[in-house]
Amino acid sequence: MSAKIPVGVLGATGAVGQKFVKLLENHPWFELTEVAASGRSVGKPYKEATMWRQYSPIPAAVSEILVKPCEPGLACSVVFSGLDSSVAGEIEEDFARAGCMVLSNSKNHRMDDDAPLLVPEINPDHLGIIETQRKRRGWKGAIVTNPNCSTIGLVMALAPIHQAFGVTRVIVTTMQALSGAGYPGPPAIDMLGNVIPFIGGDEEEKVETEPLKIMGKLGDGRFEPANIKISAHTNRVFVEDGHMECVSLELEKKASPEEVARVLSSFSSLPQELKLPSAPHRPVIVAAERDRPQPRFDCDAGNGMSAVVGRIRSCPVFDIRFVVLSHNTVRGAAGASILNAELMKAQGYLG
Ligand code: NAP
Repeated sequence: MSAKIPVGVLGATGAVGQKFVKLLENHPWFELTEVAASGRSVGKPYKEATMWRQYSPIPAAVSEILVKPCEPGLACSVVFSGLDSSVAGEIEEDFARAGCMVLSNSKNHRMDDDAPLLVPEINPDHLGIIETQRKRRGWKGAIVTNPNCSTIGLVMALAPIHQAFGVTRVIVTTMQALSGAGYPGPPAIDMLGNVIPFIGGDEEEKVETEPLKIMGKLGDGRFEPANIKISAHTNRVFVEDGHMECVSLELEKKASPEEVARVLSSFSSLPQELKLPSAPHRPVIVAAERDRPQPRFDCDAGNGMSAVVGRIRSCPVFDIRFVVLSHNTVRGAAGASILNAELMKAQGYLG
């Protein structure tokens, strides 16, 4: 058995950072050796720097590691970034320039025309843009991004349907969990018995544009976005984990709800074929019960890596409507980055 690849986590003390620490424990290919965060945390043992909010204890191998500054020079050439977007852009560039592979959760580089916005089940070929990125920027490393936590559930459901029937227009209304706002998130007094119909940081724009890049084509060193119009309403609800989305869509080639359900439940792709360690057996699970998915019961499906779709039915305005749920800090963040790194290792990008 070959040695594990040493990896680091930037922003390791935050909500996404903690999920990285948890998911990397006992990973068969990667070993977490470095944790980094802001000046508030630097120099402290990890267990003192972070307000641990996971349901299992801090992995013993990490709890005493001293938090380092987010500066190149860490003893690893692969870093996962859960950095706040106010600082992620430049820090991630510094690491890529210094020769590191950066797997980013932040919005800063997602829409760059030379950076992959990768979902291994949908657009594994988009890794090909790394060559252009390196040439253009003169980097030995690279930045590879994963989508916004609401984009991911939507695109996991849309991509197989688009492939089979062609999607032309989409209206999506999200109900997003509190953990999507980082720790400690919105004050309890604002959330209790309430719904906030606004999520900052251009959330609606991300949900409207990221799927087009992901489902688009990469040819000749350029992305051509998918020709789909998306209208998004994003809401914060009083739920701990799991973003739920109500979706109505128009199809090029008409299809029944049963046909759509068959396409979704039979969807399988490269990560499943390669048996990547974090790849769920079924990327999309179609719930049989008429009142599912529900965040409390379904957000951990496929170890938090599957999207769960339910209530697939005809739409009197468009063609098809359904509900989709995905785990925002696993498939929508840390788990997505780790799956991206696994695909990159399998394809020889990690040396
Ligand atoms: P968070 O809980 O607020 O954590 C932010 C992290 O960034 C902390 O580790 C913090 O370190 C670090 N940080 C802040 N300022 C820094 C600085 N000047 N220098 C170095 N490190 C700094 O946020 P989060 O929810 O984990 O989100 C992290 C990123 O992932 C964001 O870009 C977010 O948009 C994205 N994202 C989040 C989710 C989600 O569901 N939560 C999903 C997808 C993507 P200290 O503890 O030392 O301050």
